[in-house]
Amino acid sequence: MKPSEIRAGGRVYQVQYTPLLLGTHLCGQTNFRQQTVSIDESYPEAQQRETVLHEIIHIVSNHYTGEYGLTEHQVGQMCEGLWQVLRDNAGLAEWIWFGEKNDEIP
Ligand SMILES: [Zn+2]
Repeated sequence: MKPSEIRAGGRVYQVQYTPLLLGTHLCGQTNFRQQTVSIDESYPEAQQRETVLHEIIHIVSNHYTGEYGLTEHQVGQMCEGLWQVLRDNAGLAEWIWFGEKNDEIP
């Protein structure tokens, strides 16, 4: 299910799926003041998912590294690396979050 919100850094970002991000060539965009993430739903679904991960890295960078946040290039590289690891290790994310007994993180 497509996420409708992302919780990060004590904030809740509303995720909007739009037909086009007018005036841009972007697949996604985060507005930190309005706490929204916009995803262009005219792109293929896999690219939308990767873009959500990309925007999450922007949010984490903004909240946890302050003025020394990652550059656009660094965010792109981090996203590409994480995407590959998660894609090529089926079940890894579930194990990290829930362990072998499907326990919730305390
Ligand atoms: Zn970006």
